[in-house]
Parts: sequence; C-alpha cells; structure tokens
Amino acid sequence: MKLPIGIVGAGTMGAGVAQQAAMAGHEVTLVDVNEQALRKSQSLIEKNLHRLAEKKQHTPEQAQASFGRIYFSHEVNALQDSRMVVEAIIEDLGIKCKLFQQLESIVADDCILASNTSSLSINAMASSCSKPNRFIGLHFFNPVPLMPLVEHIPALETEQKVLETTLEWMNQWGKCSVVAKDTPGFIVNRIARPYYSEALRIYEEGIADFATIDQAMTEIHGFKMGPFALMDFIGNDINYAVTKSVWEACFFEPRYKPSHTQRNLVLANWFGRKSGRGFYNYSQELETSQVHDKLLLTTIANRILFLLINEAVDAYYFNVATKDDIELAMTKGVNYPNGLLQWAVELGINHCMEGMENLYAHYKEDRYRPSPGFRKLIANNC
Ligand code: NAD
Repeated sequence: MKLPIGIVGAGTMGAGVAQQAAMAGHEVTLVDVNEQALRKSQSLIEKNLHRLAEKKQHTPEQAQASFGRIYFSHEVNALQDSRMVVEAIIEDLGIKCKLFQQLESIVADDCILASNTSSLSINAMASSCSKPNRFIGLHFFNPVPLMPLVEHIPALETEQKVLETTLEWMNQWGKCSVVAKDTPGFIVNRIARPYYSEALRIYEEGIADFATIDQAMTEIHGFKMGPFALMDFIGNDINYAVTKSVWEACFFEPRYKPSHTQRNLVLANWFGRKSGRGFYNYSQELETSQVHDKLLLTTIANRILFLLINEAVDAYYFNVATKDDIELAMTKGVNYPNGLLQWAVELGINHCMEGMENLYAHYKEDRYRPSPGFRKLIANNC
C-alpha cells in the first residue's frame, strides 16, 4: 500500500487528482466543504473508473479497488495522516493561504503541501506557512487522468528533497513532469498566451473571422483545435481570467494584454460550450470555414506561430525552464503538434526573428518586440 495522499477541493481538478492518485495505489482522502461537490465528485470518479474498465484499460476489480481507496470527507481534520496534501480549491490567494495555515496545524511536520494553482504565486503561498520548505506548486492539467503533464514549481525555500519526492511520485502516477520557475503562468499558461491573444487581435483588425482563423491554425500548422474553438472549450471566463492575471502579474507587459472582444463575451455570459454560446453558437450547426486563399491562411497562421515561438524563446532565455521541459510542456500540456523551439529550428531561427522584427516594424508596439533570446540562440548556433 502506498502512502496516504490528501486532496482539498473536490471540483474539476481535485476529483481528477484523487482518481489519478487512487489509480496509482495511494489511499486518498478527498475533502470539500460543499456536500454537493463531494457527492458529484464521488459519482464522477466512479463513472470514470467504470468507463476505464469498459475500455479494458483496467480490470473491473482494479477499478473497484481504486474507487475503494478514496475516502470522501467534509472535514479537513481527516487529512491528518496524509504524506502529501494537494490543494485544488477556489483560485483566491487569501483563502488558499488560510487553508494551508489550517493544514499545518493538522498534518505531520514532513507532510508535503502542494498547490494546483494556475496563476497565483507559489512563493506567496509558501511564505504564509510556518514551514515554507515543504511547500511546492504542482500544476495538473484538465482532465487530469487524460492530460499527462504536471508542472512542479518550487518556491525559493522549497527543499530539494520535496521536489525529488514530487517528481518521483508523479513518475509513479505515470505523469510527465517538468520543473518551472515561479513566474506568472509558469510554462504552459505563459507561452500559450499568444495562441489566444494574437488570434483575437487578428480578428479585431478585421483580417479574418473566427472560423477562418481557426481554419488557418488547424490546416496550416496542424493544431488540434483553432484558438476560438479552444477558448470556447476552455471557457472564456477562465481563459480571460488567466490572461488578465498573467498580464497583471507581469507588471502589465503589453504582450499579455487582454482583449476587449473576449472581455465583452465574458460580460455577456458567453462563456463558450458550457453556456451554449461563445465565439460560436452551440445551439445551431457550427460555423466552419472553407477559405481557399492560401496566402491569407498562411499569413495568419505564421503570425500566431511567430508569437508563440517568441514566447518560448523568451521563457528559455529567462530560464523559466530547461529547453527540454519547455518542449515537453507545450506538447504534453496543450497538445501542440511540435515543440516550439524545435519548430523555430526547422523554420530557421533567423526567419522567426525576422518574422517578429517585421511585425514590430509594422506596428511599432512592444507587443511584437522580438525576444533577446533569438540572438543568443543564433550566437550559440542552436
Ligand atoms: P472548481 O470550482 O471546480 O472546484 C473547487 C472546489 O473547491 C469546489 O468544489 C469548492 O466547494 C471547493 N472549496 C472551495 N473552498 C474550499 C475550502 N476552503 N475547503 C475545501 N473545499 C473548498 O475549481 P477547479 O477548476 O477544480 O480549480 C481548482 C484549482 O485548480 C484552482 O486553483 C484552479 O486555478 C486550478 N486549476 C484549474 C484548472 C482547470 O482547467 N479547471 C487547470 C489547472 C489548475
């Protein structure tokens, strides 16, 4: 029997982490203050495990055993024997810090405390604890059992042993791990920003409609979903909130500036698929694009790709993560068809830098500033 794991928050992410930990053989205690959320997570996990057995990815006995290893509770005190607690509650720094302080009075001194936050500072949470050395960010992706990536984000005071343990456990859970610096958006949510924001900008400039921009990215560069279909899938409320939070946390860096178009959708409650309406209207047959203007499609697709590559080069230049981890994060966390740094090499780093320089010369906006990382890559012959 593996060590007991605790999870707080039985919503979308907490339920997924609980299922994954139980499948890896841990005794899991899943805590939520909301009785209804607990019940919902219980039936969802049972249904997911049952489906895995139907698909023959598990035997019915294994699925039953995994489900039997999860205890559902509305008492944080039930986490006292946990060796690691993963927090997956509401995205609010004050509420999270209060929870960690409460957890510290319950769990053993060597219990690892981890946060699944998408956008809050790991250092801010760690420093609210009396033992910041056992604190770490563990950022899973939705849906947790299907998305292999986990970003590990140590705080300044996190002990190396804690990182080694989370890396070892995630390996046992069958996850693909990357290590990121505690910077806004970590790796994926930072580098992926232009996929959404540049698509919105191209639409706002009247160059093409949503469906044509989606067609460009899927057809020309092989992305699984176009940016507008993807924003509708993620939820415009969530996607807008992440953009806004990365922009604010980066001291209002123009590259991450949110868009009025998306803000208007959020204010109109056009959240996307979940509300029936977003960039597309899900109550009627979905609009698709069959544009044959190859030059237009290529211009759009390359503009977005240059900005994505610029972000990856910048994250590498500023040591947010290693080159390998940047590549893994984007291919395993958001299913990009190619690692962005490898893509730059294939297209020619000079060519990508020129792509950015041309945009910068045209718009004269800092949003299109080429990363100094391009010159370093060229100088190092990478
Ligand atoms: P959610 O709203 O689906 O679930 C949050 C749950 O936490 C709710 O059931 C709520 O009742 C519970 N909760 C709130 N305060 C609590 C408390 N003090 N004690 C116990 N339970 C409490 O949210 P989610 O989408 O699962 O997100 C959870 C965290 O994971 C957030 O920090 C979010 O940024 C992060 N995250 C979300 C995604 C995603 O795609 N949804 C991806 C990665 C990370």
